[in-house]
Amino acid sequence: MAAVKTDHPVFISVGSNLGGKLDNCLRGIAALTESAESSLLEASRFFRTSPVDYADQDWFVNAAVKIKTSLAPLVLLDKLVSIQQQMGRKADSVRFGPRVLDLDILLYDDWVIRTPRLTIPHPRMHKRAFVLQPICDINPSIIHPVLGQTVADLLSHLDDKDQRVIPLENQP
Ligand code: ADP
Ligand code: MG
Repeated sequence: MAAVKTDHPVFISVGSNLGGKLDNCLRGIAALTESAESSLLEASRFFRTSPVDYADQDWFVNAAVKIKTSLAPLVLLDKLVSIQQQMGRKADSVRFGPRVLDLDILLYDDWVIRTPRLTIPHPRMHKRAFVLQPICDINPSIIHPVLGQTVADLLSHLDDKDQRVIPLENQP
């Protein structure tokens, strides 16, 4: 008997700070969810956010989406990498630096994964307002499976007040 593939809820962060940033994000979400394996459940607003980690670069557009997918975590990561490359992201670009499209897996169901290629929950999500605010748009009571706190609590206790996360005025 063929194994039945189960769908999992997954939160993905979407960001861009090069070219048509909002359009890049929309195209990335479409590429991810226009397949038999993954479909869009919910999307946050889009935000204009200040760069963190590597400050000398343009502001970002960020959002988060909740999808359901039958892809296993590493297969989903491969899919994200291939979408980023199709959108023109250079494989050798500066870490944390400018990018046409960044797609990260934030949460994969309530799983905890630590492999050389993939860490879930995303290792920096709990420190980043540009990730936590969009997830809160979708569901503020989602619990971080390692820290045991809701994303709303994590956001309210962030101490980095320099992070700017401002809703884009013209939402698509
Ligand atoms: P970042 O998104 O942290 O700014 P990159 O997009 O350049 O950095 O990702 C670098 C590497 O991070 C990827 O090649 C991927 O293998 C790894 N990685 C580890 N965990 C995750 C995750 N949860 N989501 C996406 N990439 C991840
Ligand atoms: Mg990334």
